[in-house]
Amino acid sequence: MTAPSRSRFKGQKVLITGASQGIGEATALYFAQEGARVALNGRKEDKLIAVRDKLPKVPEGEHVIATGDISKESDIEALFAKAIGELGGLDVLVCNAGYQIPSPSEDIKLADFEGVLAVNVNGVMLSCRAALRHWLKDNHHGRIVVNSSVHQLIPKPSYLGYSASKGAVGNIVRTLALEYASRGIRVNAVAPGAIVTPINDSWVKDPEQYKAVASHIPMKRPGNSEEIAASIAFLAADESNYITGQTLYVDGGLTLYGDFEKNWSS
Ligand code: NAD
Repeated sequence: MTAPSRSRFKGQKVLITGASQGIGEATALYFAQEGARVALNGRKEDKLIAVRDKLPKVPEGEHVIATGDISKESDIEALFAKAIGELGGLDVLVCNAGYQIPSPSEDIKLADFEGVLAVNVNGVMLSCRAALRHWLKDNHHGRIVVNSSVHQLIPKPSYLGYSASKGAVGNIVRTLALEYASRGIRVNAVAPGAIVTPINDSWVKDPEQYKAVASHIPMKRPGNSEEIAASIAFLAADESNYITGQTLYVDGGLTLYGDFEKNWSS
């Protein structure tokens, strides 16, 4: 799925964290196809350059590489300064970077738990703070879209840090949305279900496991990165101008309690 042939983001400046692969890469491509100039964040410059080479060019200038670890305050400051400086401003922040570490909860290592929160929660907070500081200086009506997860709602046994982090993200979005609604800044989230990306290689590359995952989804298939990118773009576009503080579940019906599809209790 490519972005529809329109230019909703022509002339706009978009920073995407975790843009070196998966949903972040697809989102960068989607925004660039709709005319945006994007800044790509990730930790490895060579991977970001490879993504930039795939993006359509825009007349406003080259897409920007903003390398840095979003869990580190000093990296955030440097990468936002680079992105905003080279783009000449910022209109949309997509907080996409995130990761998970599996472990039975009785064995979970504090360092692993804190590591996941450092990226998925602190990284979102630090990124949002940097964008807000920039926008408040000149009353800019910026938009933030955070990539959460269905695990904002559905428990994820053996992934306690991830589960806790995505629950926190839901309230970060609602709190920031309320705090800045009167200044014209919108803050929303998408919550993907099971999406085919490298984070899910363990089941994506195993036909039996892939079938098992698909069978749990009411629409009977996992989603793809472009379907999430399209929803992120919607929440950043003027079409959603009156939406703030919401989480849009993009999950093929995963949060609809598939076991209740056929009545079994009366
Ligand atoms: P992915 O592993 O393919 O990509 C994650 C990206 O984040 C990579 O580019 C990685 O380098 C980057 N990243 C990780 N830690 C970082 C850090 N400290 N600083 C900067 N960049 C960092 O994963 P994905 O599936 O594309 O996931 C993207 C987002 O979508 C995550 O927040 C994830 O929780 C969420 N999500 C994914 C799925 C899914 O099924 N794939 C489902 C729900 C939510």
